[in-house]
Amino acid sequence: MANNGLILCIEDNPLHAKIVYKVLQHAGYEVIGASDGKTGITLAQSERPDLILTDFNLPDINGFEVVRTLRTIEQLADIPIIMLTANNMDGDRELSLEAGCNAYLTKPVVRIELLNTIKYILSDSYEQHG
Ligand code: MN
Repeated sequence: MANNGLILCIEDNPLHAKIVYKVLQHAGYEVIGASDGKTGITLAQSERPDLILTDFNLPDINGFEVVRTLRTIEQLADIPIIMLTANNMDGDRELSLEAGCNAYLTKPVVRIELLNTIKYILSDSYEQHG
């Protein structure tokens, strides 16, 4: 199977995680998972994924804290992060981007939207335009 990159998925809902893993694996990505924020941060440090997907509502720390922490770790400061959240409240999007996310998607995740966002973020054109 093609390896388009390693993606870390931080998600506490096993059913949702399973769906996302399947979508990503089918699209040729290698996937590793964590079911809470702190484990996710530890895995990010040891595995150095190409991209991180994080849920907002996690059992220990929330998605903002995950992102802020990752951004303080020098080797992980530039790693692309996509926030997935069930909260569709005004301001969440801006707060996520402010915290250092590269993109913000609302659940339920639309397969093609997720894959296009990942593809775009991992593409050279995205790098060039910051
Ligand atoms: Mn959750």
